Amino acid sequence: MPSRRSLSSRSASFFVVVAALFGAGVLGGHIGGCASPPATPTAPTAPQNVAAPTAGLATGAQPNLLFILVDTLRADALGVYGQDKPTSPRIDAFAAGAVVYAHAWTQYTWTSPSYVSFMTSRYARTHGWDYPLTKHDTWRTLDDQAPMLAQVLSGAGYATNAQFSQPNLRKDLAFDKGFDTFTRGAEVGAVRGAVAAIGKWKADPKPNFLYVHLMAPHVPLKPTEASRTAVGAAPIDTQVSYAHWATASAADKATRLEEFRGIYLASVRDADTSVGAILDALDASGLAGETAVVLTSDHGELLGEHDQIGHAGTTAEALTHVPLVLRAPGLAPRREAAPASLIDIAPTLAALAGAPAPAAWQGRSLLAGTTSPLIAERDGQLSVSDGVWKLTEDRLTGRFLAAYDLSKDPSEATALTAEDPAGKDAIAGLAAAADAFRARLPDGENTGVAPTMGASEKAKQVEELKALGYVE
Ligand SMILES: [Zn+2]
Repeated sequence: MPSRRSLSSRSASFFVVVAALFGAGVLGGHIGGCASPPATPTAPTAPQNVAAPTAGLATGAQPNLLFILVDTLRADALGVYGQDKPTSPRIDAFAAGAVVYAHAWTQYTWTSPSYVSFMTSRYARTHGWDYPLTKHDTWRTLDDQAPMLAQVLSGAGYATNAQFSQPNLRKDLAFDKGFDTFTRGAEVGAVRGAVAAIGKWKADPKPNFLYVHLMAPHVPLKPTEASRTAVGAAPIDTQVSYAHWATASAADKATRLEEFRGIYLASVRDADTSVGAILDALDASGLAGETAVVLTSDHGELLGEHDQIGHAGTTAEALTHVPLVLRAPGLAPRREAAPASLIDIAPTLAALAGAPAPAAWQGRSLLAGTTSPLIAERDGQLSVSDGVWKLTEDRLTGRFLAAYDLSKDPSEATALTAEDPAGKDAIAGLAAAADAFRARLPDGENTGVAPTMGASEKAKQVEELKALGYVE
């Protein structure tokens, strides 16, 4: 069995990373329009009560790892994140015994790039699944520059299996690297598959890693009558998609939006029921005490914020803010205020498995403290946040687009201006962090990895990136 890494030595690296991101660089370059002397860095909240993660296991034992992802699940759709409708009784009960990361962000707000990010612990600008900057090469085969989580766990002795209903997890594009089985079915089939897989763990001499990817809150929505009734959503006979709101007349817009929101929340409750069935199987297996469970989403969903619904094209908070809940043997339940990123999941699970994190991974184990700030990209936007303040810039030019105080305005209803004194220093710190991020990981680096496009297309793309100043 691999030996476990020292948690205390990893804790120290957290502060080094924070210092590197916040302490260097020019502050104020994006607010007020020009470079200015360094301001006081904004330090994130340090993690508290970080317990030894495997206290409930025998020395050297590797826990089973159950990774459940509910597609298109915004954090505030769950009770544990403040939802007042009864959308998530099972997830809320699970979260009561787990670490709940209050400020968790996806790194990209669309399924495929997000999956690649959290499975290879890399930002999209590095792994190249990054639409539309690499618009000639969107559906690319996954590169080999960083091992996927399943490969690392397989190498550490794990049986690795996936059960999912999301069609964008593409075997033909190598999304299955490291998985012993990679099984797509209908939503109910994925749940049954997960339940059946967990039922076999007791007899398996290997530790198990199971990835489950559910789709209920993703359009088209057709929640069960039980869930629709439970959350008080309007009765809708057909499947509901974005057209329900987008094609409404001006007079009907508000009503249609409320209907869509209700149907979405009812669908979240269906996902909650599925998660409950999987957790029941884990309890029935008798292995819950020696299994780490992580629950999250690949991105959220706009439900009227910025006058949009869906998850296209931006780094809006409704899309970046996702639930992240971790229950692991020996890990004390708590609410964690320190920012957490989805690219931290793979290093966290690898640490629990006693497997060294590959050098190419860009996240850090949550067990040792999270890196900060949060960074998300989508199309032309780059956003940075410390969990309270959020800055969105033009990704290509670094130009200031908007800033928000998420503690008072989580739906981003009122953008702060560049001249607004509220949070100016904190946001200047985020601008410096964005500069440091760009300097550390220049955009366009991904053009060098395993292209699936033809040589002429690639040459054209490189020329475009040169013209933008991203490649020498
Ligand atoms: Zn998705």
